[in-house]
Amino acid sequence: MYEIGTRLLIGVMLASLGLAVFACDVPGGGDGILRPAAQRTVAEVAARELGEGLHDSAALDRLDPDLVAAVLAAAEDAAADGLDLRVTSGWRSRAHQERLFEEALATYGSAEEARRWVASPDSSAHVTGDAVDIGPTDGALWLGEHGSAYGLCQTFANEIWHFELLTTPGGVCPEMLADGSAER
Ligand SMILES: [Zn+2]
Repeated sequence: MYEIGTRLLIGVMLASLGLAVFACDVPGGGDGILRPAAQRTVAEVAARELGEGLHDSAALDRLDPDLVAAVLAAAEDAAADGLDLRVTSGWRSRAHQERLFEEALATYGSAEEARRWVASPDSSAHVTGDAVDIGPTDGALWLGEHGSAYGLCQTFANEIWHFELLTTPGGVCPEMLADGSAER
C-alpha cells in the first residue's frame, strides 16, 4: 500500500513537472499565435491572493503589480460585456525571450525582420515585467478599445495582443509604434 501510494505520488509529481515545463516553453502571443495551453483566465487569477500560487506560464507574480491590477480591473469589466480576457504571456525570463527571438530569427531569416515581431531580451518589456499579451482576439480587440480607461495601451500597431501601462487611467495612449523594432 505504502509503495503504491509512493509511486502514485511520484507519478503525480512528474506529471505536474512535465506540465510546468511544457507550459513554460509555450510562447505567448509573440509569434501571433494564441495558444490555449498558455492561457489562464484573469478571473481565475483574481480569485487567488496576489503573490501566491500565480507562477504559471504567464508568471503574473513577476509582473509590475500595477499592471496586474489594471488587467484584473479590465477583465472584470470585459466579463460584464461577455468577454473572457486572458493573459497569454506575462513575465518572461531572459532565456525564454532569447529562445523566442532565436525562433523568430529562424522563421524570418534576418535579425531586422525578426525584431519587428519578437523583441530581443534587452528590449522586451516582458523581461522587465511591464507587458502582457492578451487573448483571445476578441478580448485583445476589446482591450484595444477600452484599455486607456485602465492605463493600458496597445504598444505596437502590428501586435493587437501586446499591452503595457503607458498612460494614467482615463488618460490618452501614446501613438502606437509601428512594430517592435521602432525606437521608443
Ligand atoms: Zn507581448
